[in-house]
Amino acid sequence: MKYPRLIANKEALKYNAQTIIKMCHDINVELTAVVKVTCGEPRLAKMYTNLGVDMIGDSRIDNILRMRHANLRGPFVLLRIPMISEIPDVVENADVVLVSELETVRFLGKEANKRGKTQKILYMVDVGDLREGVWYENAVDEIEEASKIDGVVLYGIGTNLGCYGGVIPDEENMNLLVKIAKALRARGVSFKIVSGGNTAALYLMEKQILPNGINGYRLGESLILGTDVTNNRAFPFLRQDTFTLQTEIVELKNKPSVPKGKIGRDAMGRTPVFEDLGNRLKAIVAIGEQDVPSDGLKPIDKGVKVLHASSDHMVLDVTDFEGHLRVGDILEFKVTYSALLRAMTSPYVTKDWSQFES
Ligand SMILES: *Cc1c(COP(=O)(O)O)cnc(C)c1O
Repeated sequence: MKYPRLIANKEALKYNAQTIIKMCHDINVELTAVVKVTCGEPRLAKMYTNLGVDMIGDSRIDNILRMRHANLRGPFVLLRIPMISEIPDVVENADVVLVSELETVRFLGKEANKRGKTQKILYMVDVGDLREGVWYENAVDEIEEASKIDGVVLYGIGTNLGCYGGVIPDEENMNLLVKIAKALRARGVSFKIVSGGNTAALYLMEKQILPNGINGYRLGESLILGTDVTNNRAFPFLRQDTFTLQTEIVELKNKPSVPKGKIGRDAMGRTPVFEDLGNRLKAIVAIGEQDVPSDGLKPIDKGVKVLHASSDHMVLDVTDFEGHLRVGDILEFKVTYSALLRAMTSPYVTKDWSQFES
């Protein structure tokens, strides 16, 4: 076996997908399953489409290409507003693309016309988080103009909250989006979807307070980890045992808990802080900041504590571990969203999707 190793738990991932698909479809909300945190893993996307999600979303065209090459049929939504330089790839491979610039929409329309196609667009509205989208006060005019551009079809409007500014989606900002949709329709602009949000907005469905008129969701973190980092919680009706990270011990020694010598900056430019607990049993596992942020790992075994990491070495306090550890043993962790993201992106971490092979 090769370590470090990230194991995908098919049963748990399937359970989350079935639960969320039912939640959405029960109230006629179209669900886009977002797979970007796995770099567009085709086996996961395939399971999602087989279970009945409506679309597969990813922020990178390279990941959509990866899934297309694995013969997945999509439909695919490109979640990151596109670069002008990637528009030919977008028109060729994305069924729907999120946009926020009229200039980009004109390029998309031109490229689509060139290919005898029409490109579906979902126009983003910024209702406060300060990431992508036309500022809500200017949204109606700008989106009306976009809807008239030749070669594109307005598939919907949407918003994204939480991810950048940390703004929590609520009834107020969701209603703002619904109001914009109404104003557009009053001007004769037609479209199918009002896409309310991501995992940070899932609790609105859970509490049954989602404003009428929102009929689309784009969900990643909740499906894949059962957590909601913006609201700092785990969903009680979802599973969190979806991924396990395995690391191998390369050193195991008794050492002081405070370094000896003057303290400067660590390898990452941080000033580490140490608490003096006397001598402790420390394990070094062969993984580091290049593969995973050390504060994003939660030990599965009792009595294991992550102390700190440099780029390739992670130091754990295992004094309170019940049982006998040896060099070469494997220690397991659950991962946060940011840890999963980095681990999936690190070529040094083996991704184990073998449960999806049968
Ligand atoms: C990543 C992303 C999502 C999914 O977000 P989660 O918090 O993982 O559910 C939805 N919409 C857009 C535009 C995104 O970039």
